Amino acid sequence: MNKEEFMRKAIALSIENVAKGGGPFGAVIVKDGEIIATGVNRVTSTCDPTAHAEISAIRAAAKALGTFNLSGCEIYTSCEPCPMCFGAIYWARLDKIYYANTKTDAKDIGFDDSFIYDELELKPADRKLQSEPLLREEALKAFEEWTKNMDKIEY
Ligand SMILES: [Zn+2]
Repeated sequence: MNKEEFMRKAIALSIENVAKGGGPFGAVIVKDGEIIATGVNRVTSTCDPTAHAEISAIRAAAKALGTFNLSGCEIYTSCEPCPMCFGAIYWARLDKIYYANTKTDAKDIGFDDSFIYDELELKPADRKLQSEPLLREEALKAFEEWTKNMDKIEY
């Protein structure tokens, strides 16, 4: 399969998911020219606000390969990733993102994530979602334990 065929699979998943009552998003993850995992948006069907197509595909790929590091893999997503999925793709160490619909296309049908991108530009105190530092000294204990732990699996 070539990259257009992988993307057509992601698009087909997105269209099928609408027919099943889900959001219009699908993704596939490819390694060495083979699809190793797929994902669709399952936010409403699973009551999971993080169950975007890309996150679902990453979870399936990591499970299939038995690793948290998906370097050597590429993701084909039917829509440009939101900030959460964009971050998850970095954390998963995927090599490349192919996307079809743009975030503007998504905004036009009511899936607007531009406010999150806008919030990231602001200082924490200026964001709509308030965040407050609390008990840092106590929390640092976990970081000290991590630093001392010689058996840790770094990631
Ligand atoms: Zn997302």
